[in-house]
Amino acid sequence: MHHFDFHEGSLHCEQVPLSQIAAEVGSPCYVYSAATLRRHYRVFAEPLAAVSHMICYSMKANSNAAILKLLLNMGSGLDIVSGGELYRALRVGADPAKIVFSGVGKTVPEIEQALDANILVFNVESEAELDRIQAVAAARDQVARVSIRVNPDIDPRTHPYIATGLYESKFGVDLDTARPLFGKAHAASHLELVGVDCHIGSQITELAPFLDALERIQQVVQELRAQGLPVRYLDLGGGLGIPYNNETPPHPDEYAREIVARSRAMDCTLVFEPGRVIVGNAGILLTQVQYIKSNYKKRFAIVDTGMHHLIRPALYQAWQQIQPVLPRTGEAEVVDVVGPICESGDFLALARELPPLQAGDLLAVMGAGAYGFSMASQYNSYPRPAEVLVDGDRYHVIRAREAYADLVRGEQLPDDLA
Ligand SMILES: *Cc1c(COP(=O)(O)O)cnc(C)c1O
Repeated sequence: MHHFDFHEGSLHCEQVPLSQIAAEVGSPCYVYSAATLRRHYRVFAEPLAAVSHMICYSMKANSNAAILKLLLNMGSGLDIVSGGELYRALRVGADPAKIVFSGVGKTVPEIEQALDANILVFNVESEAELDRIQAVAAARDQVARVSIRVNPDIDPRTHPYIATGLYESKFGVDLDTARPLFGKAHAASHLELVGVDCHIGSQITELAPFLDALERIQQVVQELRAQGLPVRYLDLGGGLGIPYNNETPPHPDEYAREIVARSRAMDCTLVFEPGRVIVGNAGILLTQVQYIKSNYKKRFAIVDTGMHHLIRPALYQAWQQIQPVLPRTGEAEVVDVVGPICESGDFLALARELPPLQAGDLLAVMGAGAYGFSMASQYNSYPRPAEVLVDGDRYHVIRAREAYADLVRGEQLPDDLA
């Protein structure tokens, strides 16, 4: 469900025509719908109301300050994976007591930063990390709350680059290795073991992998409790998929109800780290056709955005819906929608049937709210696009389009360069 619809023949975000945003803000730009964000958060949260829970929005999906603020205002916590994300979180006033810190590579300064902020919990991904957090906390005479991220060896049947809970993966700790780590964490002088964590992957479109993972994690929780170890938090990560094309992921309501039904007896606070399911379909990437080009084999629509602003098609062969902002009539044509970047992998769509396009046409690349801007780069020295948040009949530029000066910020010429 989202609020990008046609009214009087032109694609709108809520009550604002996308053509107006393109005219006033320029192309390309990301456009997000506040009503959609609020709705997605509510739909996820409502079925959880009956149990002790925390929603920690996974901010790597989209970490714009205005998006974070909107979700914080609805009661969300945050899942962070770096010191930079912690910086962004604190800057918008996030409550550290609702921040969980995931990621396999936490550095000493990042651990110190998180201890300074007194975040809720570190989701620990290796024994070496556990030792490091203990050492850093001990040196400051602070106690760090930790959960161990276990890897339940579940195949989430998603793209291999976003499967994270298989033994081939760098993430988490396999179950046998994890068992002694819980005891070690509990016994450590400057650690407080508070829970168990897992996150098996992203864009998961079936319920079964989540429930299989839950079952394995619950066994761990029971074992730990039998040994007298405390488990207050059961963090089930994120990963719930969204419809980009014809996928039929479980509805968040069904997902939450099934998990709640199976965990009610556990007497834990359930923690969720949704990212994509909140922001994915709440945003689009607005772009303008620059050229139509044909060769013996193919027809191309060359647009003013590409893999530098939305890398999912290039990186995961992901399918993203593309639609003209002002409908074009005429017989559909098969085109590759490609960007200006000097890479053959720079495409947004391959062999896509679209109405006949012309230079100047505006296109909306749908489902670009998650892992769009947050994975964008300045490759080929394109300043990153503006971000716009629509709320009803108004819109706000929530990140200015970068200027050329932003491309060279921090670069310095050595005085004695020959
Ligand atoms: C990326 C990530 C998430 C969010 O994944 P989505 O598929 O966007 O819901 C949650 N938790 C962790 C640890 C992650 O790395």
